Parts: sequence; C-alpha cells; structure tokens
Amino acid sequence: MFSHEFRTTSQELLPPEHSSWPAQGQGPIEFTKGERRTRFLLERHNGRMLRSLLLAPPGAGKGTQGARIAAIYGVSHIATGDLLREQVERCTPTGEAAVGYMARGDLAPDPLVMALVVERIAALEPPAGFVLDGFPRTIAQAEQAYAWGSEHDLTFHAVIALDVPEDQLVQRVVLRGETSCRGDDTAETVLRRIHLYAETSEPLLEFYRSRGILIEIDGTGTVEEVTERIRARLDALDLR
Ligand code: ADP
Repeated sequence: MFSHEFRTTSQELLPPEHSSWPAQGQGPIEFTKGERRTRFLLERHNGRMLRSLLLAPPGAGKGTQGARIAAIYGVSHIATGDLLREQVERCTPTGEAAVGYMARGDLAPDPLVMALVVERIAALEPPAGFVLDGFPRTIAQAEQAYAWGSEHDLTFHAVIALDVPEDQLVQRVVLRGETSCRGDDTAETVLRRIHLYAETSEPLLEFYRSRGILIEIDGTGTVEEVTERIRARLDALDLR
C-alpha cells in the first residue's frame, strides 16, 4: 500500500555528504559516511534495519552479494559457511563436529548451525539488522528460525532468491576452487551441493512466497548489475 512512497533511485538514498549532528554542550559531532548512512536509513525506516535472507544455490553469488547488500544497508553479513569454516580452523568442538559433513558437501547438523546463528544475532546492537547467507536452508531450519524470530521480533523483511542456471553455477564454483583454499569447491562436491540445494532448499521458495516476503532476482550478469537489481527491490520495501 505504501510501497510507491519508498521507490526511490539509489542516488536519492545517499545521505547528505557533510552532515553533522549538534549534541548539547558540545560542538557538532562529525559522522563517517557509513554512520551517516546508517542514521539516514534508521530515520527513513522508523528505527528499523533490514533483516533479510539470501537464498541461492552454491556458486550463485550469495557471499559476494551478501557482503555488498550488507554494506549498502549498514547491517551485518552473517554467512553460516564462514561461521562454520571459522570453527573448523579454530578446531572447536563445533568445528570438529561439522568438518566431515562440509567436506562431503552435506549439511552440518541443525543444532550446531542454529546455535552459531543465534549467538551472532543475539550479539548485535539493537535494532538488529542483517543479511543472512546460508541459513535457513531447510524447511526444518526455516521453521525453527521463524519460531525464534517471532519470539524476538526479528523475523525477515525480505528473502532474496538468486536465480542462476546450473551450468553457470558449476563453472563459477570450480573456478573459485582453483583460487580459494575451500576444499569443498570441486566439480564432484559442487554437483552434490547443487542437488542437495534443489532437494532441501528450493522448497523454501514456496515457504517464503506464501509469507509474501520472497524477492526473486535474476542472478546472471555482472556483480554490479545483480546488486542493482536487488537494491531496487529492497529500496521499495517498507520495513516494519
Ligand atoms: P555453498 O552455499 O556454496 O555450498 P556455504 O559457504 O554457504 O557454501 O556452505 C558451505 C558448507 O557449510 C555447506 O556445504 C554445509 O556443509 C555447511 N552449511 C552452511 N550453512 C548450513 C546450514 N544452514 N545448515 C547446515 N549446513 C550448513
């Protein structure tokens, strides 16, 4: 109903370059560009920050777009793959429990992943804003996340689904595997992860579509083009 009021161009979204905020008894406080933008977005959305999920198969650009969207909206990028890899590197009990599943391209056990995500979100300064990347990725996880989110008034405003054809996915991941040290980025494992995604994560599209928060984006083209497509849709949201 209000969406037309929020449909602005990216340029209009930029805060004034030299804004400052006079505080009582002090001279003006200078804000960094990031702080100005966060303040601007908070005012625009009545004190709320974006809470979103990036939903896409391996190689679709979740990590890249997640970081860019989080920076644009001044929120945290929380990638469960990164959180798990960090646990593995630090040889924590969580890492030790997850490493075998990850190397095979299987999903790590739900309670481990849920605990990592909840810990990260609970540590955010209110009003918590985030781009989740990689969680939820099963219906069971989505139901748990919804129950937790409802209890803490932190459910998603938007779920961004990136659509990329399968042949491009395999190509992108195998290429990434050549330059990164991710042991799970091989042709064999990526196919397994893509099929697992189709089986366990694609049903989430309908789950979020029926809640009216699904945003479907064409994930092909340059990184910048995809970011602009996402941004145009997110800019049109009325965060509640
Ligand atoms: P990709 O989406 O490219 O497979 P991620 O970095 O998101 O890569 O995940 C890497 C691995 O971490 C997955 O293959 C899986 O083993 C584990 N993982 C990440 N998120 C989850 C999750 N929500 N539930 C279970 N396992 C997960």
